Amino acid sequence: MRRGVCFDLDGTLLLPHGDWSGWVSDTATALGVAAPSRHRFRGALERAISVDAAVTLASACRDALVAGGFGAPATLADVAREACLAYGRGVRAHPVAEPLLERLAAADVPTAVVTNGPFDMQTEALRASGLAPLVRATIVSGAPDVAVRKPHARVFWRAVTALHARPEDALMVGDDLAADIRGAHRFGLATCWIAGEHADDPSGVPLGTWVVSDLAGAALHVEAFLDG
Ligand SMILES: [Mg+2]
Repeated sequence: MRRGVCFDLDGTLLLPHGDWSGWVSDTATALGVAAPSRHRFRGALERAISVDAAVTLASACRDALVAGGFGAPATLADVAREACLAYGRGVRAHPVAEPLLERLAAADVPTAVVTNGPFDMQTEALRASGLAPLVRATIVSGAPDVAVRKPHARVFWRAVTALHARPEDALMVGDDLAADIRGAHRFGLATCWIAGEHADDPSGVPLGTWVVSDLAGAALHVEAFLDG
């Protein structure tokens, strides 16, 4: 059976976001949250976008405003739409991501992005990165038909189904040891952990996982997996 490759998005195909704090602050301002309350709003928003459920940035903003005791403005949907676009403007692909995905596409290897977060925000991040046309499937935890986050098995089931691959014929590449690597390993995928500065610490790493420091290192194992 043909092999396929799954990639996490944030911190894997994408570099860390340029200005998360500034983006949250701008979003809070647009929603009418006063400056002294922005720290409280940020905590509420970060919890709201991390729920194991269908979620959009608009629904997360609404939940955060309610949880924080703020009022929700009538313009909330418009603010959330603009905030998604602004978030996308801060997205940068890892320099290795495009050539790697181009090679896989040229070799007709099916690929999937498997990412946690609000459906609209993650979709916009992938679009803004320029990588969307190079991947076959996108699995977002906040999508209505996913509605759970990695490491839940349903996310990986959706990914391998989209790739038309058995779990053992798929490789998961990601930077989050618990969500990406242990989750995928439990579901039977091969795993490659982008460990960054933790590359020398083997504690909690599933047996057989390739451990690399960045996406360039992962690219070598992707090719080895496809040849193996
Ligand atoms: Mg990540």
